[in-house]
Amino acid sequence: MAGALVDLLGVAGLAFLAVLSYRLKATDRLGSLAAFLMGVIIGLSAGWSWVAYLVVFLAAGTLATRYRYEYKSKLQAAQEKGGARGALNVLANGGVPTLIALVYSLFPYSILGLMFVASVASALADTLGTEIGLLSRSPPRFLFSGQQTQPGRSGGVTSLGIFAELAGALLFSFFGFFLGIVSLPLVAVAVVGGFIGSNVDSMLGATVQGYFICDVCGTSTEKRIHCGKQARLVSGLHWLGNNEVNILGAASGPLISAALYLAFF
Ligand SMILES: [Zn+2]
Repeated sequence: MAGALVDLLGVAGLAFLAVLSYRLKATDRLGSLAAFLMGVIIGLSAGWSWVAYLVVFLAAGTLATRYRYEYKSKLQAAQEKGGARGALNVLANGGVPTLIALVYSLFPYSILGLMFVASVASALADTLGTEIGLLSRSPPRFLFSGQQTQPGRSGGVTSLGIFAELAGALLFSFFGFFLGIVSLPLVAVAVVGGFIGSNVDSMLGATVQGYFICDVCGTSTEKRIHCGKQARLVSGLHWLGNNEVNILGAASGPLISAALYLAFF
């Protein structure tokens, strides 16, 4: 009975937040609906502390994106997601955590709580690395080669960005402990998984990601299609575009944490 009341309050709270998110233009109509449905699934299958964790993550990410947004726009590197997120964007970002919560409802093992926290901590670390890293006075450099690149291009990192990533992974892993999703010993695993995971996209971006040049307008791009035409491959692998790199990056945090858990616990 008490459980049903908590679920009811949780669903009502999510409905309120979905409307708020729409009003604040953080998500569009379908994006708000998708976020609401994912929240309900996660709350009913894994518990409302998991939902609270995601809500704080979304608020922190949105604040970081909007912080000095004008300045970052001028660098032409601020993410286009400064506008309202659509359903696809919400699904892409929330898919992995929702899947982990669903599996947890069948097999409630602590490794799944760890993977959930690592996936969210890694996503937050990545967002902070990008958004705070853009404010760096020194130009971004490629991991490994150290070669300078333009702000906002995949694969580039700054010391400020890496520091922000580490801070994000630390804060959010501890927050997972605070909400009772992971035990204290597992916080360390989540920090390592989250931090390394948040750098996997930069590592791939600096090495094997495909870069293209558009023969129509001459722009160098991460997109295979530009100006409605197939762009020419300049470096990296043809099939490994920005979306693929982002998916691999999102999966790496939870996978690295799970591997560490199995090796040491
Ligand atoms: Zn073009």
